[in-house]
Amino acid sequence: MIRAYKFLLRPTARQTVALGEMLRDHRSLYNAALQERRDAYQHASKTSIKYGDQSAQLKEIRAFDPERQGRWSFSSQQATLRRLDKAFQAFFRRVKAGQTPGYPRFKGVGHFDTVTFPKDGDGCRWDSTPHDAQTRVRLQGVGHVRVHRHRPVQGRVKTISVKCEGNRWYAVLACDNVPAEELPPTGGNVGIDMGITHFLTTSNGEHIANPRFLQVMADELAEAQRHLATFPKRTRQRTKRHRAAAQKVAKLHAKIRRQRADFHHKTARALITDHDVIAHERLNTAGMAKSPAPKADPEQPGTFLPNGAAAKAGLNRSILDAGWAQFLGILANKAERAGRLMVLVDARNTSRTCPDCGHVAKENRVTQAKFECVRCGFEANADHVGATNVLNRAGLVLCAAA
Ligand SMILES: [Zn+2]
Repeated sequence: MIRAYKFLLRPTARQTVALGEMLRDHRSLYNAALQERRDAYQHASKTSIKYGDQSAQLKEIRAFDPERQGRWSFSSQQATLRRLDKAFQAFFRRVKAGQTPGYPRFKGVGHFDTVTFPKDGDGCRWDSTPHDAQTRVRLQGVGHVRVHRHRPVQGRVKTISVKCEGNRWYAVLACDNVPAEELPPTGGNVGIDMGITHFLTTSNGEHIANPRFLQVMADELAEAQRHLATFPKRTRQRTKRHRAAAQKVAKLHAKIRRQRADFHHKTARALITDHDVIAHERLNTAGMAKSPAPKADPEQPGTFLPNGAAAKAGLNRSILDAGWAQFLGILANKAERAGRLMVLVDARNTSRTCPDCGHVAKENRVTQAKFECVRCGFEANADHVGATNVLNRAGLVLCAAA
C-alpha cells in the first residue's frame, strides 16, 4: 500500500535561506525551460521541444551556472523539467480534445512551491542521522534539516518533496509497502450526502456542520488582501512592507488550509471507525464550481442578460470552502488503509427520490431543507433523504456485484 506523510521541517536560519534559494533556482529553471519551448513553438515552424531534449541540456546548464543551478540535485531538476512536460502534455491533450486550454504559464514567486526528489538517497536522504534522537532529512545544497516527525514512518520511502506553505517548510514522503492497519468489522453501513447547509449528512440522520473556515476568517483575509492591493502589482523590487503584506495573506490562507485538512481527517476517521461500507455520490465539483456562461441580450447587442453569476459565485465559494473533493480523497485513503469499502453511486435524483415509495419528482423537495413526497406524503429532512438514497443505491450496486 502507498501512503503519504507530511512533516513540518525546522530549518536553521541558514538552512531557511538555502531552501528559499533552492526553490528560486528550480523556479527559474522551470521558467527558462518554458521560455525555450514557447520560442520554439512560435518561431521555428512549430517544432516542439521534448522533455528529453531539455533534460539533456541540464549538464551544460549546471556547468554554465555552478553557483546557482550546479548547487542542487540533478534528479530534482529533472523532476522540475518533468513537471513542465506534464503541463505541456495536458495542454496538448486538451487542444486535441477540442477544448481551449490556457498555454502553460510562467511561475511567479509563490506559485512554485515544491521541489521533488524522485528517489530517496539521490540528492536527499530521509532519516540522515539515524543514531541521533532527532530525525533529519539531508537535502543537497541545504544540509541536514530537522524534522518534526509527529508519527512513525512505515514502509519504504520512495520520493521526498519539499514544500513551502506561507513561511513554513514541509517534507512530504511517499512510501510504498506500508502495511494495512485493518479495523475490526462493525456491521454498520452508511450513506453520506454532501451539502452546503451541512458539510455532510449521514443516512443515520446525523448532520456534520460546515465549518466555513473561510467565512469565519473572511474579514481578516479581506482586510489583508485590501492592504496588499494598495501596493503596485508589478515591481522590480518589493519593499519590506509589501513583502510583509503578501506574507500575511499567504499565512492566513495556509492557516485555513491546515484547519480544513484537520477537520477532514477527523470527520473521515469517525466515519471509518464506525462503518464497514461507506457510500457517497460521484461528485462533479469542476462543473459545479464553474461560472455560468454569459448570455448575450438579443435586444441590445453588446450587453448581457443576468445569468445568476453573482449568486453562483457565493455558492462556488461555499463549495470550494467545503473542499469535498479533498475530503473524499482523505476518506478513500483511510478506507483503504483500514480495509473498509467505499461505494460510489450515481448522484442523479438522490435529492428528488422518495425513499419510502420510490416516487421521483422535483416537487418532492419542498425547500433546501425539507422533503415531502407528493405521492405518499413521506416527510423528512432533505439531506437525510439524500443520504438514505445514496445508501440504498449502494446496496443495489453491491447486490449486482455479488
Ligand atoms: Zn413517497
